[in-house]
Amino acid sequence: MTDVKHMKWWGWGIDGVGFHHEDKPAFAPFVLKAVGLNLNTAERASEPAFADLKVPASIAGPEFIAGLAAIVGEDNVSIDDKLRVVHTYGKSLRDLVRIRNNWIERSPDVVVYPANEAEVQGVVDAAVAANAVIIPFGGGSNIAGSLEPLPSETRPVVSLDLGRLREVVAIDTDSGLARIQAGSQGPDLEAQLNAHGWTIGHFPDSFTHSTVGGWVATRSSGMQSDKYGDIADIARGLRVVRPGGVLVLHPLPSTSSGPSLREMILGSEGKLGVITEVTVQVHRIPAKRDVYAYFFPNWKSGIAAMQEIAESDASPSITRISDAKETGLSLATSKNRKGLDKFIAGKVLPGIMKSKGWTLEDICLSFIGYEGSVSHAKLQKKLVDAIVKKHGGLGVGKGPGVLYDQKKFDTPYLRDFLLDMGAAGDVSETAAPWSKLVELHANAHAAAQKAYDSIGAQGWIMSHMSHSYRSGACLYFTFAFVFGDDPIGEYDTVKSAIQQAFVDNGGTISHHHGVGLEHSPWLSQDVSPEGVKVLAGLFSSADPTNNFNPGKVLPSSMLPSQVLPS
Ligand SMILES: Cc1cc2nc3c(=O)[nH]c(=O)nc-3n(C[C@H](O)[C@H](O)[C@H](O)COP(=O)(O)OP(=O)(O)OC[C@H]3O[C@@H](n4cnc5c(N)ncnc54)[C@H](O)[C@@H]3O)c2cc1C
Repeated sequence: MTDVKHMKWWGWGIDGVGFHHEDKPAFAPFVLKAVGLNLNTAERASEPAFADLKVPASIAGPEFIAGLAAIVGEDNVSIDDKLRVVHTYGKSLRDLVRIRNNWIERSPDVVVYPANEAEVQGVVDAAVAANAVIIPFGGGSNIAGSLEPLPSETRPVVSLDLGRLREVVAIDTDSGLARIQAGSQGPDLEAQLNAHGWTIGHFPDSFTHSTVGGWVATRSSGMQSDKYGDIADIARGLRVVRPGGVLVLHPLPSTSSGPSLREMILGSEGKLGVITEVTVQVHRIPAKRDVYAYFFPNWKSGIAAMQEIAESDASPSITRISDAKETGLSLATSKNRKGLDKFIAGKVLPGIMKSKGWTLEDICLSFIGYEGSVSHAKLQKKLVDAIVKKHGGLGVGKGPGVLYDQKKFDTPYLRDFLLDMGAAGDVSETAAPWSKLVELHANAHAAAQKAYDSIGAQGWIMSHMSHSYRSGACLYFTFAFVFGDDPIGEYDTVKSAIQQAFVDNGGTISHHHGVGLEHSPWLSQDVSPEGVKVLAGLFSSADPTNNFNPGKVLPSSMLPSQVLPS
């Protein structure tokens, strides 16, 4: 059987790793206050049992399966129930609630693991010839409903897992360009690059379980994007398998050869073909990499400082600021009053803050990263420190930044823990111009509160700003509440209110999670009805029989002149 590793079928990450609060004394009181959930008395659900799941039977016929096996080898084709379940959903809250509650309406009928581009081509051609559906699968980490087969799908569905294409093929050291196979997951590709002194500089929170092909297909963004760019900047060349041939985009620094095909593949969520290789801009591993922490008296002053940093000559790798509520959670998840929490809970820092006239409930924690040569990092910090000072901020050194760096890939496990305890914890993110950010933030919080009132829940919402640009920034919202009788309905109410607030306040429906099924209801408000028509034309001409990941980004019903399956 294939050696491709997958995440837990019911949650984030790998078996045996999870979130625990017992070593974080401030966490349980925080949760009780925020959403009214008593972690000390609530009963924790036990791990779901696979045997309890009802998996829809595979409708892939033996002839079709034998054809696929002839291309990739028998060991790399499977109709095993567990593998089909692993490939059914991503890791959105909706996905996790459904899978924990045995709600699987439709699964892929067969999972294939090609070893190279020629085998991907073989699978694509065979599937299109048989009028089957092809859903490319990277790490399965998306949270936009980008993977699930449509319940109404009557054709066989192939989940095409890129996990065996995981090599860094070559590095052009003159240009800093690395050819990477699309199924390479973050740690694997970074280790291969590091071995030659290079880094990709792309570190989404899902880094440990997502792939470079998935990053491109969803227009991902990593936490050091201020320096290295989003994947849309990093991915320079692409190879995409389409029925009958490979679309090849050479890695170019820039080009004016018509509308950008590269940009069309970026964010296409498997609808324009299967990405087999991405040529990415890589960088020499920096001599210096530090993350410093700063406090601001309030959100408004913090955002003003971030904006001024984005406008200035300083070029930090990370500019991130949490609002007061998220700052509160950061302090509450520190372990046993070490590090940041001890620092704040002690007398010295709060004393300094009070002497400055700050209200402790309003303070906002910011992390700013510096990377490059020693002299470059020093100069950046000097420039930033002056701006922070101008906006009334306070530098508190590297200690909290080290903690942030260490636990950045652990937080995804928190969501599974909350689900175990009967509560939702999820995220929604947007980007907007600087001129709209403060108002958008306030209005999204107000919209969430109104939604909580409508479902009768005590809810929580907090945010941070990450990913700065000259014209604006990404705002990332985390919300939580205890489920009532209708988890998905309640979740929809809250999430929809937040999404609507984004578009109503000049933001986009997603800065880096893509569209999938989750965000497509707002697409026309984001790109205009005329924009939707152009996208519909693109998808239907590139895939006239709607074989590639149907229904994602745009509902199939919006595609014109669709030759629908018989
Ligand atoms: C806890 C958590 C934290 C996250 N943090 C971040 C973050 O910081 N930044 C961020 O950008 N995202 C984040 N995400 C979202 C997710 O990790 C990204 O969307 C990621 O880019 C998906 O990559 P993947 O390899 O897992 O793709 P998958 O989930 O497997 O697939 C996503 C979509 O891309 C398509 N696809 C995948 N591979 C290919 C390919 N080779 N060719 C064509 N289409 C393909 C699929 O068909 C699907 O439509 C997070 C998700 C979770 C659960």
